[in-house]
Amino acid sequence: MGEPSTTSGGVELGYAEDSPAWKLHRRYFPSKIGGFPAWLDLHSLPLPSDLQCGSCSQPMSYLLQVYAAHDGDPAGFHRTTFVFVCRKSACMKPGNSPAVRVMRCCLPRNNSFYSSEPPAYDEKLGDPVISHPLCAVCGCLGPNTCSSCKKSFYCSRAHQMLAWKSGHKEECAGIKDDEAVLKGKNMETAAIFSEYELVVEPEELEGKKEEKTEDEKMLEYQKLLMNNAPTLNDTSADELDPFYASAAKDKTFRAFQKRVKQNPEQVLRYDRGGVPLLLSDKHVPGKGVKNVSRCSCGAPRTFEYQIMPQILNYLDQEESLTEGLDFGTILVYTCSRNCHSESIKYQPEFAWVQPVQSEGRGPRVEAAMEED
Ligand SMILES: [Zn+2]
Ligand SMILES: [Zn+2]
Ligand SMILES: [Zn+2]
Ligand SMILES: [Zn+2]
Repeated sequence: MGEPSTTSGGVELGYAEDSPAWKLHRRYFPSKIGGFPAWLDLHSLPLPSDLQCGSCSQPMSYLLQVYAAHDGDPAGFHRTTFVFVCRKSACMKPGNSPAVRVMRCCLPRNNSFYSSEPPAYDEKLGDPVISHPLCAVCGCLGPNTCSSCKKSFYCSRAHQMLAWKSGHKEECAGIKDDEAVLKGKNMETAAIFSEYELVVEPEELEGKKEEKTEDEKMLEYQKLLMNNAPTLNDTSADELDPFYASAAKDKTFRAFQKRVKQNPEQVLRYDRGGVPLLLSDKHVPGKGVKNVSRCSCGAPRTFEYQIMPQILNYLDQEESLTEGLDFGTILVYTCSRNCHSESIKYQPEFAWVQPVQSEGRGPRVEAAMEED
């Protein structure tokens, strides 16, 4: 379920939909948003240090995961990418942001965790066990124990303190009260996002023929931008083609709006090996060291999907608008060889952030839907 097909050539869109929690458990290989990560490999989870914000060093929040198998690759029969973000807007820099982390995990069909046959949908079935303790707050690896009860585990001091303030103090002392339960709910909104199934469907476009041609021109232009990003400036853009020159000035954002307006609820665009829908002609990812870097195996990374700003409307954040998670679009690039390593089960991949166009979260997301 929710698995993007790898054979069709077109773009597929992801939507956030309510689902019973058990259907999003790891045994079903879900694509999902928020809640705890549904880990794929269960032995070698990312370390807490792998999931710290590169800017503020605090634990990042799990945003989503996309299950997308790799055709014709037996070692990648199961394949999930996980995205983590820092929720502080000050950490979310444009480009290769320190506040976004992508991890890719692959498993062969025959593995030590899951049956080689498709799972039966049954609420009563249990998940395969993870042999390491998980953080009670965020569901990531939790090597730290509550020294008092020795029953609660945490990824970090930050989450241990959050849990302590949010009801574990009472729980640890064996006190059961409703207030502690209520505090626990507050803890959830402070550390994890609301959980949804990520349902993926082909993008349907109604546009007239003429508009499509313009869309195609726009895509060509964006490809050009990305191939020349480090050197392209306004003058060289002007010389390319009058259409491209005018497009360069203000049309990227309008093209983005126009395309998104046709399916305004989309929270993700999946187009492996394709071209992202750029939000802006600033902070464009190109080739070269400062841009989309190669995988550690040496292979170039290619575009796989992008996270759309509409997802912010679903995340139920407590923070104020100036402090919470905010971005224009996050582009995810993954190893073109889909490499495997015996030692690193969760392979770091690459994310690129295009920042918001205007101030404030609510108005901007709505602006993306407005008429031209
Ligand atoms: Zn941060
Ligand atoms: Zn944690
Ligand atoms: Zn305790
Ligand atoms: Zn690789």
